[in-house]
Amino acid sequence: MVNAGATQMKCSICRSTGNVRLPHFNLKLCNEHFFDLVERRVERAILKFKMFERTSRVLVAVSGGKDSLSLWYALTKLGYAADALFIRLGDTSVVNAAHALVQKAAAALAGKLHVLDATVYFNGASVQDAAKILRRPVCAVCGLTRRYLMNKFACEHGYDVIATGHNMTDEATTLLGNLLHWQDGYLQRQWPVLPKTHTRFVAKVKPMALNYEQDIKQYATLRGIEHLDLSCPFAAGATSRLYKRLLTELEDEQPGVTAAFYLGYIRRGRLQTASVQLQDCQQCGYPTTSAICAFCRLVGQFSRLKQAAPRAPARPEQG
Ligand code: AMP
Ligand code: ZN
Ligand code: ZN
Repeated sequence: MVNAGATQMKCSICRSTGNVRLPHFNLKLCNEHFFDLVERRVERAILKFKMFERTSRVLVAVSGGKDSLSLWYALTKLGYAADALFIRLGDTSVVNAAHALVQKAAAALAGKLHVLDATVYFNGASVQDAAKILRRPVCAVCGLTRRYLMNKFACEHGYDVIATGHNMTDEATTLLGNLLHWQDGYLQRQWPVLPKTHTRFVAKVKPMALNYEQDIKQYATLRGIEHLDLSCPFAAGATSRLYKRLLTELEDEQPGVTAAFYLGYIRRGRLQTASVQLQDCQQCGYPTTSAICAFCRLVGQFSRLKQAAPRAPARPEQG
């Protein structure tokens, strides 16, 4: 938070004028020391969880939001060779605005940006419209499409790791939900690193997992990283918004509690669950637990429904 009050704050480190207040760390910092703190926490996550090496080829999945664009910026500042991937999930004004901002970031960082069009898998439809046709929740179709395309692209282009912008506040919110319902499988997959478990599965990492969401927002603003507020209208439903609101209330009362909660999970170590047997999808060859992967089944179902649609538009979903 920027201090708008009359009293001048001093940076806890260098005693120059400090504008950034971090109640959760009991610190006030000048811009430079604040940038340093956020970037060090990125570096710490990379080292602590052995996410990747200095020489690794990193692909940052960028959405146009503050978290992933700040991550791309921070990794570049830290000297990592990080390219970015933006997936167009439709041809909407929001997608076009996000696309323009990731291009702007690429120009500012002199970074390499790849762009994929997900609509080619849905006959030109956005994932939103595809979900309607499939009669599935938008988040499910969107998440599956993104994960599949990111992995396929990273695999085909020889990237060692895919980095996403997930921040600590969102991770702690998810953790709260997973613990309340003791979702062992999700607790396992929530770990900030998903290792390579198949020749065509690229490791996934969350280097922002030690940074508070509000700090990343501030970092993006002060660094002049233009971004969209991408709080998705379909996102995760009312329950996760409730958990986030409760966690924010707790954090206001007890600064630092979010970090204590999340780091407690980390200290307890990764939960061990039975490892699943992965096989090659009979259609695309990417890893799956069944004969045909969830994405191939999704696309297959979409094209069947699309073909059926003109003849029987109101017919219930089959298969
Ligand atoms: P979300 O599930 O929307 O919170 O997004 C989580 C992470 O997925 C973001 O921080 C990005 O790293 C990545 N991501 C989201 N949308 C896209 C997109 N359209 N293209 C590439 N990466 C994305
Ligand atoms: Zn300072
Ligand atoms: Zn497949």
